[in-house]
Amino acid sequence: MNKPEIKEAVLATLRACNKPLALPVPIKKIIREGFPNVRLIRFSKQMQRRGMTYEEMKQFCGTDDACTDYYADSDTYVIYYNDVDNLKISSNRYRWNIAHELGHIALNHHKKYDQTRIFRTGLKNELYSVIEEEANMFAAYILVPHIVISCVADKHHIGIRNLCKVSGAAAVRRFDAIQAWSRRNRAEAYDLELLGFFSHYVEKNPYSVSVRDWLDSHRACKRCSSTLGRFTNFCEVCGAPVQGHYKLKGDIMEYPGIELDGEDRVLECPVCHNTELYAKGRFCIICGNSLVNLCSNGQASYGFSCQNNDPLPGNARYCPFCGAESTFLQRGIIFRWDEKSDEIDEDGALPF
Ligand SMILES: [Zn+2]
Ligand SMILES: [Zn+2]
Ligand SMILES: [Zn+2]
Ligand SMILES: [Zn+2]
Repeated sequence: MNKPEIKEAVLATLRACNKPLALPVPIKKIIREGFPNVRLIRFSKQMQRRGMTYEEMKQFCGTDDACTDYYADSDTYVIYYNDVDNLKISSNRYRWNIAHELGHIALNHHKKYDQTRIFRTGLKNELYSVIEEEANMFAAYILVPHIVISCVADKHHIGIRNLCKVSGAAAVRRFDAIQAWSRRNRAEAYDLELLGFFSHYVEKNPYSVSVRDWLDSHRACKRCSSTLGRFTNFCEVCGAPVQGHYKLKGDIMEYPGIELDGEDRVLECPVCHNTELYAKGRFCIICGNSLVNLCSNGQASYGFSCQNNDPLPGNARYCPFCGAESTFLQRGIIFRWDEKSDEIDEDGALPF
């Protein structure tokens, strides 16, 4: 079984959906949003449409859980799932069944093995068990995401069953797996990207202060990799809209800026280089220029103006609340995040 391939399929599925997610994972919504070539059809609907009895429907599917038909001509899939058996619904078994079928689709099993439907009889025994296991692994990874769970619940006493809405049997198996995962105590690139899709959810519901701190110190801008503050709409460094994104600490970029004092003022006037600052004054006593970095949209005399009048950090190129340029960027005191400063260029000059 190819675990990296399954993990990649899970990420590709979430990227295709590209919506903020929460637990329990909205598996049907993920299919609706991310897979326009997949149709979900309830047993009851199909029975009504075709005038079939429940027995006939189960026979048609060859199972009382779910099955998927692949139509190669149009590259489309139809997933039929059992909503007639109350137990499948109340135990949440149907969610697992749908995720399992999506696993076959995301892992291209139908295409790879030239099947219109994954049947025990259509495949060699050994191959059939491998792809069944792969689809189950996909369902497990997508419905029970370890890193998300460990951010919102005490992972030693979690009720995976309630949190993730999976069957009791599946919950027990996943609990063992999550214990093993948390003993390793290391987030991989897979975990960090996956967590990004749940950023709104985990940041609103952190299980503990240490989880809160962990999230704070791993949150980074998707475009420029600088740290992102809590409750911001735009990256301060590159101005990109904030999307949930986490990185390993070592991969987070620090962008240069102007050093500030305890009053958020520059230590030296960036215009006239005067270093004599007056008490708490925010303007240079020699040339009258502002000594603090502000949102340039703060003083708009008409129309929309930003509510944020507080000074920004010395390396902020943009306002984290409205996305407008900072006054330091506008006045050329700091450079755009993707531009090199003149000083760095000079370093590369020829030595003569
Ligand atoms: Zn299957
Ligand atoms: Zn950025
Ligand atoms: Zn000055
Ligand atoms: Zn602003």
